[in-house]
Amino acid sequence: ERARLNRLRHTPAVTLDGQAVELLANIELPGDAAVALEAGAVGVGLFRSEFLFMNRGGDLPGEDEQFVAYRDAVVAMQGLPVTIRTVDIGADKPLDRMSLQELRHEHALNPALGLRAIRWSLSEPDMFRQQLRAILRASAYGNVRILIPMVAHMGEIRLTLDALARARQQLDDAGCSYGQVQVGAMIEVPAAALAVGRFLDHFDFVSVGTNDLIQYTLAIDRSDDAVSHLFDPWHPAVLRLIADTISQAHARGKGVSVCGEMAGDAAFTDLLLAMGLRSFSMHPARIAAIKQRVLRVDTRRLAAGLPAVLSAEDPALEAARLFAPVLSAP
Ligand code: PEP
Ligand code: MG
Repeated sequence: ERARLNRLRHTPAVTLDGQAVELLANIELPGDAAVALEAGAVGVGLFRSEFLFMNRGGDLPGEDEQFVAYRDAVVAMQGLPVTIRTVDIGADKPLDRMSLQELRHEHALNPALGLRAIRWSLSEPDMFRQQLRAILRASAYGNVRILIPMVAHMGEIRLTLDALARARQQLDDAGCSYGQVQVGAMIEVPAAALAVGRFLDHFDFVSVGTNDLIQYTLAIDRSDDAVSHLFDPWHPAVLRLIADTISQAHARGKGVSVCGEMAGDAAFTDLLLAMGLRSFSMHPARIAAIKQRVLRVDTRRLAAGLPAVLSAEDPALEAARLFAPVLSAP
């Protein structure tokens, strides 16, 4: 079994019909990069940088401390892409004492709809530019991409790209070197999914955060036990938003990935492949199982079943009916 898993780790994720699929890792701290490589990840699709900001009594990591953390992850990945998401603080991931946030917005009634993620970053411009400079500096050591969480409005895109331009200018002025960095947006708010064509005029790639996309599409708090049974990834509205995001990105020749839990859940692998997805980012422990699934499917057969699944009364049932036979192939 050990030998088989070891072989699997070095086997490229290619479908029966020859489609290469990129299996990336979600990480929380630089030390996880080694775990990602060990699991056979071909890069980091989501580095949740907020974990550098949490569990430290409300004090925030400065530019140099962040730079070292990002550089360590980038160096550990040996030239493979590392997608660093700017802080996604707020809602289910509060700072310990909520420091700055608490001072400004005590007890928001709906924290998931409040000052979180890019909204928080844009409200703390010095903190945001420190983080952007730290990420840019790390890009001198490997292949770095920047990912912006919770983008919902065109105005946020402009402010974010302005902040990035200023961060580059400051590094130029200081004589600090940095590399080419692609910039992408998380698609995790329905507004972003519906406007993704517009968003892609300004971004190099998008990554679908299905955890929040489901939460916001269905108006179900993902952390509220009283309604968690209604959190349904198979809801036709959710599937429609994901499928449209993937095809809009492809139509524009831009990269698209899924980094929410759906990407690491084998129940959705066929469906996402059917939608045309070729880049999945997940917890490293999920990579082997998803790769085994990828190795056994023919994406032409999956794609042929997609319209029936998307228009079905019960998409989960229809997917099980249409996709299962493909999976029983050798
Ligand atoms: C998501 O929302 O799907 C996602 C990947 O981001 P997070 O779970 O960190 O909010
Ligand atoms: Mg999210």
